[in-house]
Amino acid sequence: MQEGTSKRVLVTGAAGFLGSHLCDKLLALGYSVTGLDNLFTGRMVNLQEAMTKPNFRFFKHDVVEPFDGQFDQIYHLACPASPPFYQADPISTSKTAFIGTLNMLELARDCQARFFLASTSEIYGDPLVHPQVESYRGNVNPIGPRACYDEGKRIGESLAFDFQRFHGTDICVARVFNTYGPRMNPADGRVVSNFVVQALKGEDITIYGGGEQTRSFCYYEDLLNGFILLMDHEGFSGPVNLGNPNEFTIRELADQVLEITGATSKLVMREMPVDDPKRRKPNIDLAKESLGWSPQVPLRDGLENTIEHFRKVLELDQ
Ligand code: NAD
Ligand code: UDP
Repeated sequence: MQEGTSKRVLVTGAAGFLGSHLCDKLLALGYSVTGLDNLFTGRMVNLQEAMTKPNFRFFKHDVVEPFDGQFDQIYHLACPASPPFYQADPISTSKTAFIGTLNMLELARDCQARFFLASTSEIYGDPLVHPQVESYRGNVNPIGPRACYDEGKRIGESLAFDFQRFHGTDICVARVFNTYGPRMNPADGRVVSNFVVQALKGEDITIYGGGEQTRSFCYYEDLLNGFILLMDHEGFSGPVNLGNPNEFTIRELADQVLEITGATSKLVMREMPVDDPKRRKPNIDLAKESLGWSPQVPLRDGLENTIEHFRKVLELDQ
């Protein structure tokens, strides 16, 4: 990092759910932040506050194309994260995950920045080890409809560690488990945003499969604290799981959303998507030991805040 100046930080995927909150957090720390996004799933409304700050710049840019600049840190988040969106154009998703990550690693190497990769619990596929620990190598179907994302993130991790071994690039990798909160795109198709929007609109709640599959939901504020701790923990590369280890069935999630919203929506069963993981829960011992990190926000509190946010967004839409 330059002496005596604020950190110059690049955030890719800056207009997305997590990227936009990360930009706000880094700006609050006094950093000089550059955001990149091609606005595929991200929205400029998420950057409304950031855009008013003099130390924020935004470029509409696809990471599949190289980008130039001088940075001390690069947070690489650009990639669609919701199954319906990453499967809508799977070849483009693979290109983003591979070529986009390669471009950002080359940039990190050239400007000697520390590089952070937002990887995913999906690299464990439909896991045969539970809870998932970082040493588990996963059970991914390499030719299924989720492969563009799962294998894309796996090549991303592989590239990051090859840049470290081959070029000495300073890298770190977070394996992010399901995270939710305000600014998720209401139409994004992930389970929390779907259930909340359906409940608030009085529509049927769509349960895929029997709803007995599990996920462990992390509130975005907890996750982003982990991102910054990891980035600032120089010399530590991970990969490290970041997520909330409290595990819920999808049906339990639906029940909580209905209880908090007071909605009387019906639960309707829909077909289980192909290769949908049956159980997911992070082992976060490494994050606790190495970063002193563990999530603090219980699902109910996080859901209340998220529901409040979506209520306002839907009222504004009317
Ligand atoms: P999101 O879809 O809201 O954000 C992704 C952002 O990347 C969007 O703004 C999108 O427009 C942008 N983008 C996509 N392709 C791009 C490209 N080629 N060039 C430039 N920008 C591009 O999703 P999110 O939940 O904020 O996820 C952010 C990152 O975290 C992703 O890399 C995702 O894989 C990872 N992650 C998220 C979760 C989660 O539960 N939220 C879980 C695991 C991993
Ligand atoms: N899911 C569901 N109804 C929905 C959306 C998702 O039952 O309207 C299920 C989905 O099949 C999966 C879980 O909820 O088992 C989490 O889905 P999401 O798309 O949020 O994330 P991921 O599968 O990538 O963990």
